[in-house]
Amino acid sequence: MDTSVDRIAEPWGSRTPYGRHGKWPERVDTYLADGIAPDEVQRWVRAASILHSDGDAMDIAVKDDRMVGVRGLASDRVNHGRLGPKDLFGWQANSSEDRLTRPLIREGGRLVPCDWETAMSRVAARSQDLLDERGPGSIGFYTSGQLFLEEYYTLAVLARGGIGTNHLDGNTRMCTSTAAEALKESFGCDGQPGSFDDIDHADVIALFGHNLPETQPVQWMRVLDRLSGDDPPRLVCVDPRPTPAARLATVHLAPRGGTNVALLNALLHEIIRTGRIDQEYIAAHTVGFDELKKRVADCTPEWAAGICDVPAGAIREAADILGSAERLLSTVLQGVYQSHQATAAAVQINNLHLIRGMLGRPGAGVLQMNGQPTAQNTRECGANGDLPGFRNWENDQHVADLAKVWNVTPETIPHYGPPTHAMQMFRYAEQGSIRMLWISGTNPAVSLPELARIRSILAQDRLFVVVQDLFLTETAQLADVVLPAATWGEKTGTFTNADRTVHICDKAVEPPGEARPDLDIFLDYASRMGFKDKDGAPLVTWHDPESAFEAWKRCSAGRPCDYTGITYAGLRRGSGIQWPCNEEFPEGTGRLYTDGISWAHPDTCESYGKDLVTGASTTVVEYRSLNPDGKALLKAAGYLPPHEEPSEAYPFQLTTGRTIYHFHTRTKTGRAPQLNAAAPDVWVEASAEDTDKLGWREGDLMEVVTPRGSLRARLRVTDIRPGLLFVPFHYGYWDTPAGHGPREGTPGRAANETTVTDWDPVSKQPLFKTAAAALRLVARGEEADNSAPTTAASAPARAGSGTATVGGPTAYASQAYGDKREGSGA
Ligand code: SF4
Repeated sequence: MDTSVDRIAEPWGSRTPYGRHGKWPERVDTYLADGIAPDEVQRWVRAASILHSDGDAMDIAVKDDRMVGVRGLASDRVNHGRLGPKDLFGWQANSSEDRLTRPLIREGGRLVPCDWETAMSRVAARSQDLLDERGPGSIGFYTSGQLFLEEYYTLAVLARGGIGTNHLDGNTRMCTSTAAEALKESFGCDGQPGSFDDIDHADVIALFGHNLPETQPVQWMRVLDRLSGDDPPRLVCVDPRPTPAARLATVHLAPRGGTNVALLNALLHEIIRTGRIDQEYIAAHTVGFDELKKRVADCTPEWAAGICDVPAGAIREAADILGSAERLLSTVLQGVYQSHQATAAAVQINNLHLIRGMLGRPGAGVLQMNGQPTAQNTRECGANGDLPGFRNWENDQHVADLAKVWNVTPETIPHYGPPTHAMQMFRYAEQGSIRMLWISGTNPAVSLPELARIRSILAQDRLFVVVQDLFLTETAQLADVVLPAATWGEKTGTFTNADRTVHICDKAVEPPGEARPDLDIFLDYASRMGFKDKDGAPLVTWHDPESAFEAWKRCSAGRPCDYTGITYAGLRRGSGIQWPCNEEFPEGTGRLYTDGISWAHPDTCESYGKDLVTGASTTVVEYRSLNPDGKALLKAAGYLPPHEEPSEAYPFQLTTGRTIYHFHTRTKTGRAPQLNAAAPDVWVEASAEDTDKLGWREGDLMEVVTPRGSLRARLRVTDIRPGLLFVPFHYGYWDTPAGHGPREGTPGRAANETTVTDWDPVSKQPLFKTAAAALRLVARGEEADNSAPTTAASAPARAGSGTATVGGPTAYASQAYGDKREGSGA
């Protein structure tokens, strides 16, 4: 029977229970704009979600050349028809009245509209001047996890092969660089081992620092459906906040911030001590077990309990569940990636699977998750600190191979050192060696740590800043040239989700005004700059999304992320396809490592790896002697305390994160009425234990202070771990009078006013989870003053306090089951 549900009040919709090894039932979620009946929709255009990494396939409803809604795609392998709240409502931002419709250039200190010719010739002229005067290292590109594959690949070719700069990175540095690094450290190469289908088969699902219900609501629906069916899985949840997953977990561990390595070493210790390891798998497929065993030998649950402030008995219980799992699925996200010793911790989760032989079989897998919809593509295409096709910058053969694909000399492609990571690029801009920064599809003036510093870097006169975006973001307001970009639904391209599933997004409507697809902007730039190959022919030989995709296929051929068997036509057939997809695997590949470890051999690996504690690089000689046959590497790491511990002046730990209703800096979700109303302003969470002691109440106006800066927010009292504060990082200034930062002398609103410039030594991912902070009462408030969501991890500790989060009449979406469903593909 069809139902209609308020998907703000009930973000995960209704249950469709199923048993272990069963097929997840289909449920088609549809939302159409008020007043639009299904039979009024004139066209349905294929797409996938752009506001998280799940890759939920959908069709965009079009009427009179306008987007009027969305419908989940039942036949797609990822979502079986379901959509999350951001999928259902986020598309409305496309038609916001404040979309950028013309390029802008800075004249006399002000941004003024101009035509494309003026804007692009200014960008090309400055690039050429800098190349002539200062060389390629003076130009940097900072991109996103939200463009399409074709756009990243084009950007990588023009930056690395055309300009010849090593300074190209994505905001995925803040999001998934630890996922990529952990996979490289353990398996020699990036590439998600597991599949979302593993949820159907696992008897234990472990969530490490992963608020699955809010970050990937559709896969959480899948877990909820398993939990309400036969033979449900047991959940182990490691999270300091009371997420919906934590509330349903068999064991919930809420460790002190920055202590993941201690906790994981204790879990490994227990599993090894109790002999719950797969000796045969270890011998056949790994190196390094003895070192790992030695490293965790003293890491007893009691030892870890003293560091993590988690009961030793609970650690033992979790180890028992993980050790006795028949099929274990682990997922990992920012609670690990953005915390202290990020890569070292993420690798211990890979180790857990390797020593238990839990890989390559249905239900046995690791998902080192991504956050952004197209983060995987920045990594594959070489726009996130690696060479395209997961090629190893230290392997001359790989560089020569790439040079052959691009028909350039190997010396053209910078490989004198590791590709520059984002935090270093901003440092170079601060010091003055980078003089032009081209920022596409991201908003560092809200999303990078220590915002006062970032704003001052972007505002320098000597730095030429180009921003390519949909809106006049906080960052765009500081630019010298602003290029209006088309987005999802207004252009065609492909992207790849967190379980290697490639989807196509077709153009449904025209972009507003003169806004252009990012691909067209990059192609225009490449042609103005006259980038040539070694024979004098154009370096960039493609002209539209499909020809760019075909070019990428040639670059990916024979590499782990082999796309050669994928076509646009195939992607339009009714489901996404998991890479590698080639002659050998024409239907794609569900799981990697079904038959041993494929890409860790010294000749093929993407990286020779690093020391997990110091970040020092392993040389090729060391790697060859350690791992001559290319097995998985069991890399151990000792625990080190976080760099900033609470003190008398700053007695709390501060962590930042997100809510189910928003994406990044709210540029899109803040313009979707239902999503914005569900979480309209910043809040700070503290525990009932702490607030009772200090006499603070729900709704009080508080100031969060760290040595870097401060912000003001309403207090939400939750069941978060005592001693810890949480602030969502979505809120900046574009919808405040000040525009791009706090008004002189007024308190901040963005979480990153307070965060620290510090990063993981291995993945270079900034740390957002372990700042020391003070919390002060500014003014008394009422419970009703607090608009923080009551539905998920930010739910109040005392039921009924705060204003209940509901969407009301405009937030009802239909759910169709069985024969009645539409959108079944093809
Ligand atoms: S919100 Fe967090 S997980 Fe999501 S894309 Fe941004 S950094 Fe990544």
